[in-house]
Amino acid sequence: MRMRNKPWAEEYLLEHSDIVSIGDERKTKITDWFGNDQPIHIEVGSGMGRFITEMAKQHPHINYIGIERDKNVMIRIVEKAVEQNITNLRLLTLDAENLPEFFMAGEVARVYLNFSDPWPKTRHAKRRLTHANFLKLYKQVLAEDGEIHFKTDNQQLFEFSLESMSQFGMKLKNINLDLHANEPEDNIKTEYEEKFSNRGFRINRLEATFN
Ligand code: SAM
Repeated sequence: MRMRNKPWAEEYLLEHSDIVSIGDERKTKITDWFGNDQPIHIEVGSGMGRFITEMAKQHPHINYIGIERDKNVMIRIVEKAVEQNITNLRLLTLDAENLPEFFMAGEVARVYLNFSDPWPKTRHAKRRLTHANFLKLYKQVLAEDGEIHFKTDNQQLFEFSLESMSQFGMKLKNINLDLHANEPEDNIKTEYEEKFSNRGFRINRLEATFN
């Protein structure tokens, strides 16, 4: 997702440093950031943040962290969190490749990947968020029974991810090749999900674990 550069983005995020961290450095302890030790679910590549803000509102007993590397996009999530006074949501302007510098091993219960950039060219495969290099990082931060939940409209990315996760030895379950054919009541449509589903693309979904 590309957004026009906003020169005031960093200043705006710094003004809200109680809920958004813009550095790669670890907060003392994630539990201190929230003030409680509820399970932690993260979304990597949150975009405009509809999914993570709605999840946080619907599941107050989970702590959510939205991760988005683009500060200009992150602003939109912070605005939603502030306007709606969501208390169990924190935000990180971090590149996913630095996840283990921020989270302790086993600290995260679930990773959501929603409509990750497909990077269709083979020479860019390493940038896909389901490439083995990223799976390795999720494995480090996820708890033993932690899960990855992945949705995409992009057929090639979904096929690549099935293969990448299988080759990594992950267990796959609840594979759905047309999520909206019989849409679960609790499905929260991300901004991209709505856009591509309206254009007639089928939505793929899977859940995966390392153990
Ligand atoms: N999840 C949102 C949705 O479904 O509407 C946004 C999807 S958008 C295609 C992908 C987002 O992931 C972009 O906002 C991009 O900046 C972010 N992103 C891509 N690679 C990332 C990375 N390595 N670390 C953090 N964010 C990343």
